[in-house]
Amino acid sequence: MEFMRQFPDDAACLDYLWRTRYAADGEHATCPKCEQERVFKRYATSQGRQSWTCTGCGHHVHPTAGTIYAKSSTSLWLWFYAQYLMTSTRCGVSAKQLERELGVTYKTAWRIANKIRNVLMADQSGPLSGDVEVDETSVDGKPRQKLNRRAAAQYRERSRATVFAAVERGGRIKATVLPSRRGPALKRQVIEWVDPSALIITDDWPAYHGLDRHFLAHSRINHSERIYVQGSTHTNTVEGFFGHLKPAIKGTYRKVSHRWLQGYLNEFTWRRNSRLDPGSTFEQLLARATSV
Ligand SMILES: [Zn+2]
Repeated sequence: MEFMRQFPDDAACLDYLWRTRYAADGEHATCPKCEQERVFKRYATSQGRQSWTCTGCGHHVHPTAGTIYAKSSTSLWLWFYAQYLMTSTRCGVSAKQLERELGVTYKTAWRIANKIRNVLMADQSGPLSGDVEVDETSVDGKPRQKLNRRAAAQYRERSRATVFAAVERGGRIKATVLPSRRGPALKRQVIEWVDPSALIITDDWPAYHGLDRHFLAHSRINHSERIYVQGSTHTNTVEGFFGHLKPAIKGTYRKVSHRWLQGYLNEFTWRRNSRLDPGSTFEQLLARATSV
């Protein structure tokens, strides 16, 4: 109801874009051609696209230009509503649900959701700092038959995606898909994501060896000896994130192909990180969409 009041139709969404991107009062904007403030009037162009026209020189301004809504044949209102739905649930909505809610084809629903995840929800925040827990997991269920430890590791390496995440205690999280949990990729990613002044906390996975040379300190918890908490040395925060992510992926999206996994990670980290900022997650997403 709140959404419907704010955005009853296409015109309200377009007016919102016009006011937030160009003209706070809905009438006066800086004309890029006249290079000064002018009065603009709203007209439909010959193609039926809504635009605002400079009363000084006749220049058209399209409020959707440069945004993810530009050139889309899907109505602006459906785009806004999809954003609302994707931010108003705890676990997200599937393309199938969007298809039903929006009354569009599955293909359109999928395309909208994908754009929102991969463009609007992509992480753009700066480096993490403070106490930062780092961990990796493989997403996508378990092998059918029971395997020994070595065989299970080989199976994961072959057929499962590695999800890698770093989280500030009491703060933001970053997550990405990596091709492997072996080799220097994990370490490279930590160095890219985290400020050198941070304290890094990991388990004893060998790929994390040598991180102490890049950061203030590196604490390791000895998971292979079944030690999980030692004072403040634990990776429970990042594991909690994985614990929320995995069942949600299973429940909401059934099976996620590797190709789309990053989009889902964006959505989950976005939802978690946006709680730290003022304004509803929907408002924050709209702000991202209009700040192009
Ligand atoms: Zn002008």
